[in-house]
Amino acid sequence: MSILIVGAGFSGAVIGRTLAEAGLKVTVLDSRNHLGGNCHTERCEDTGVMVHTYGPHIFHTDNQRVWDYVTGFADFMPYRNQVKSTVGGAVYSLPINLHTINQFFGKTFNPEEARTFIEATQADTSISDPQSFEEQALRFVGPALYEAFFKGYTEKQWGCAPTELPASILKRLPLRFNYNDNYFSHRFQGIPKQGYTHLIGRILDHPGIDVHLNTPYTSMHASKAQHVFWSGPLDGYFGEKLGRLGYRTLDFERFTDVGDWQGCAVMNYGDPDVPFTRITEHKHFAPWETHDSTVCYKEYSRACEPNDIPYYPIRLVEEKSLLTQYETLARSEEGVTFVGRLGTYRYLDMDVTIAEALDYSEKFLRQRGHESKD
Ligand SMILES: Cc1cc2nc3c(=O)[nH]c(=O)nc-3n(C[C@H](O)[C@H](O)[C@H](O)COP(=O)(O)OP(=O)(O)OC[C@H]3O[C@@H](n4cnc5c(N)ncnc54)[C@H](O)[C@@H]3O)c2cc1C
Repeated sequence: MSILIVGAGFSGAVIGRTLAEAGLKVTVLDSRNHLGGNCHTERCEDTGVMVHTYGPHIFHTDNQRVWDYVTGFADFMPYRNQVKSTVGGAVYSLPINLHTINQFFGKTFNPEEARTFIEATQADTSISDPQSFEEQALRFVGPALYEAFFKGYTEKQWGCAPTELPASILKRLPLRFNYNDNYFSHRFQGIPKQGYTHLIGRILDHPGIDVHLNTPYTSMHASKAQHVFWSGPLDGYFGEKLGRLGYRTLDFERFTDVGDWQGCAVMNYGDPDVPFTRITEHKHFAPWETHDSTVCYKEYSRACEPNDIPYYPIRLVEEKSLLTQYETLARSEEGVTFVGRLGTYRYLDMDVTIAEALDYSEKFLRQRGHESKD
């Protein structure tokens, strides 16, 4: 049986590998000139720094199976994401923790004092069931911290008022009453020593898999396959015939320098009059390497136009209704499974992408009576 997989990111690679190990003949194609999808990393020729081409990627998961899977293909180095934020002329620690609170309010609170202070003098306890991002922030951190760390940043990132965004976006961000500034709280965290493209290359390195880069999908490709796994944009598959699903795209203004430019990997900029959202300094994502020079990205967010790279699905009311219509079309499309962040129009972390890719391919094999290797 021959399988066509569109997209050589984590979704396509993991599905391809699982099916090839079960003895299926797999062709993977990608319109880009490299593997890895949006997780692509490459060394800068001038500086030697490993650059996260489409924005910084830190692997974090609680899923033992996914962790075992990725570490079975490549060495991972421990990495702790410690984000800073420049706002109102000062630098603070994120996510909001005891250090942020003490510095911001000029206090020396212990954990219990800080908790009482936020709850009694900052949080808007009249909001019992926060619906929007703004209500969620006002309920839990109050107006001062909200204005400084979330309002401007969120408006720049999403191009809309935080009152229009669902509360769920903020629910993912912790508020800590200790000095833990680890951005993620997952058990396993790290970055592949030789980058994500190397890791995805290892996953795709199987005699049953043919990879074709610089190859945009055409219906001719599908005619030769018994089944297609599509990790490209859901609306793109249908020629956007119902309209375009909304995305935010990112522009990266790249610059190089000598030495250490900002002293950390990620510096957010919360002030609304600073046009970019953050600056990332890529050599700090590989603290086990030494480089004299440095590569930085100034990151700007804006609405995604037809020829831009789609990054973040917007999923507001309008998009949700269009999405439902595309999902109906997708369900009635025989011989095609829509997968991954673009194929299902969801923001997915890498670990979730991999877990779902394993599920899709194993379900596919079970339905066809194949054994999958666990
Ligand atoms: C800025 C940013 C930062 C992120 N940081 C993190 C992080 O720190 N940690 C984390 O866990 N996750 C992070 N993510 C999420 C991560 O990028 C995704 O989980 C991952 O890329 C999903 O993989 P995928 O294979 O589904 O999609 P993709 O990586 O987008 O791969 C899809 C591939 O399909 C190809 N394609 C599309 N259409 C066609 C076509 N018509 N013909 C041929 N090829 C096509 C594309 O070229 C692309 O290579 C981040 C995402 C963004 C946007």
